Amino acid sequence: MFYPGPIERLIENLTKLPGIGRKTATRLTFFLLNSKGGYISELSESLVDVKEKIKLCSVCFNITDVDPCIICTDPRRDGSIVCVVEEASHMMVVESANPGRYKYHILHGVINPIEGIGPDEVRIKELYDRIVREGIKEVIIATNPNMEGNTTAHYISEILKPLEVKITRIASGIPIGGDIIYIDPLTIKSSIDNRKNL
Ligand SMILES: [Zn+2]
Repeated sequence: MFYPGPIERLIENLTKLPGIGRKTATRLTFFLLNSKGGYISELSESLVDVKEKIKLCSVCFNITDVDPCIICTDPRRDGSIVCVVEEASHMMVVESANPGRYKYHILHGVINPIEGIGPDEVRIKELYDRIVREGIKEVIIATNPNMEGNTTAHYISEILKPLEVKITRIASGIPIGGDIIYIDPLTIKSSIDNRKNL
């Protein structure tokens, strides 16, 4: 059974969103259909607004409505340390744990040969140029500790080797509050390899 054209169109568009199947899309469509108080105009305006006003910062590639972004222009931050992350959402997580400390560089992806994503598809060249331009002293590579994240971290460290910059990698190991009994062998190995003096 098909609903009237405009309803079908909305359902179809909603199913393009990640994690939304036809059932949920239909439920959302009928919720919207029954909504009151100008919610639909507010929602559609905010969608257009995001598309029109949000761009990438020309320095760090953070998502922003001003260029350079407010993090790049924040004078309290230590401009000599740049934390490299895969996505803007990862930056938000690092930032919430270390508010106002570092500047960032968002790669917008990781090297993934299986999916055909090479170093030129992520913002590594821009990172190199930025380190030269801004005289950055330390790069903290905070890509995920999985195969693609590690490959990308390794590639970045090789590329940056000729520059006088300290390159560090976030540690991976047992989570705070965790229990060794439940930790996989690779993580245990990593935490032993990355052990520190007490
Ligand atoms: Zn920025």
